[in-house]
Amino acid sequence: MKKLFVLILFALSFSGKGYSETELPALGDSTSGLISLQQEQELGSLWLRQLRANQATIDDPLLITWFTDSIYQLVPFSELAVTDLQLVVVDSPQLNAFAVPGGIIGINYGLFLYTADEDELASVLSHELVHLSQRHFARQVEAAQRRNPIALATLLASIILIATDNPDAGFAGLVSSQAAAIQSQLAYSRDFEREADRLGMNILVQSGMDAHAMPEMFSSMMEANRYSSSALEFLMTHPLTPSRVSDAGNRAEQYPIRPRTRSFEFLALKLGAERRYQLKDNSAAEFRQRLENARGVDRDALLYQLADIALVQREPQKGMNYLQQVSAEYRQHPAMDALQAKLLAADNQVADATSLLRQKLLIHPQDLSLRETLSRILIDTNRPAEAIPLLKDLTADYPQMPFSWSLLSEAANAAGDQVLAYRALGESYYFSGRRQDAVQQFRSAIREAARIKDFQRESAIRERLRYIEASDDRLPG
Ligand SMILES: [Zn+2]
Repeated sequence: MKKLFVLILFALSFSGKGYSETELPALGDSTSGLISLQQEQELGSLWLRQLRANQATIDDPLLITWFTDSIYQLVPFSELAVTDLQLVVVDSPQLNAFAVPGGIIGINYGLFLYTADEDELASVLSHELVHLSQRHFARQVEAAQRRNPIALATLLASIILIATDNPDAGFAGLVSSQAAAIQSQLAYSRDFEREADRLGMNILVQSGMDAHAMPEMFSSMMEANRYSSSALEFLMTHPLTPSRVSDAGNRAEQYPIRPRTRSFEFLALKLGAERRYQLKDNSAAEFRQRLENARGVDRDALLYQLADIALVQREPQKGMNYLQQVSAEYRQHPAMDALQAKLLAADNQVADATSLLRQKLLIHPQDLSLRETLSRILIDTNRPAEAIPLLKDLTADYPQMPFSWSLLSEAANAAGDQVLAYRALGESYYFSGRRQDAVQQFRSAIREAARIKDFQRESAIRERLRYIEASDDRLPG
């Protein structure tokens, strides 16, 4: 379903204008005369909301932080015109990554299962960034439309209905063989894949990573695909040929081999993916066994995961024992402190937990793990009013992420601020692709604000509701 939405929205945005492929800007420009920058942002944001409505996503603070840092390390070398990006991680074991015009970049959490180090993972992200900066999707949709304009128009009609929250009317038309036929035409062309590989390797090298990671990543993808019952999701939209693998290998030969990056964050997240998708209930036993031979950062990542498993299993003392074994280098990592605080709170040492977090926030005021953990603990220990300002900051920094809004709603509700509780829940629904539910919450917020004669907030929320209700008018069409 997800890929269909991509297709749909971009078919929607780039249809019916009759430009030829050559008239589209070829380099470093994410907008064209076909669609305004503002419309592209609206479409991207609509696409993201639809994705969240149809696929589970992961809002783990360590994952979001690592992903944000990794992307922004590559972006300066990418020719990307718009650098205000929205990142999303899909809860799926499949190997996949995607970049959607409007500044959306996503990965499946399962991508970690297939990558040995951050250079390999970055080679996939660099490739995606090139598709985005060179506007390959728009050019591809445009070409498909020239081949078969009627099919695309029919598809568009169903899509608009879906996009505007009328699922009953649109769904039947959507899941048609016609749609599938168009989708298959939208795998990136060989030329675009070659360009994404070539410029992607430049991004990789300029950001200081090892060029040789790219051919190795391709080889392991081909290998994985050979042993998979269904084709890898990624390879359906990015067809991988033996010549792409050898071209990447030859190109990498021009560059010296550089040491690969395997940070604590990457390793902890990779173990987290194994735990979630492969090892499941056997994770603790397996990680304990690996601990016997592990050294350095690998050992610290294992200890972090083992402590987290202990937290989930409500064995906080055991968890704290694991954290005590972490090396001095990583013991000060904010994610370790956040986990330590969660373990302390679970062990009824709430005052120690909150003072640890407040102290660490002085050193890392922007850290997502620390901020989310402190808010959560304050809500759970009946101090919701103290969590509200923290969560207001969090929603300002991550305005399109539903989890910070739903936490804010929870805090406001517990603190007795019903206007804020409705409003924040409305935002959470809205960014989860549940627009009707969102509108209802906004209406409740307006009623409540009127009842308590808070006319300032009443008018602000009315304004926000008008903006949301008018969002369809801002789409191209
Ligand atoms: Zn590609």
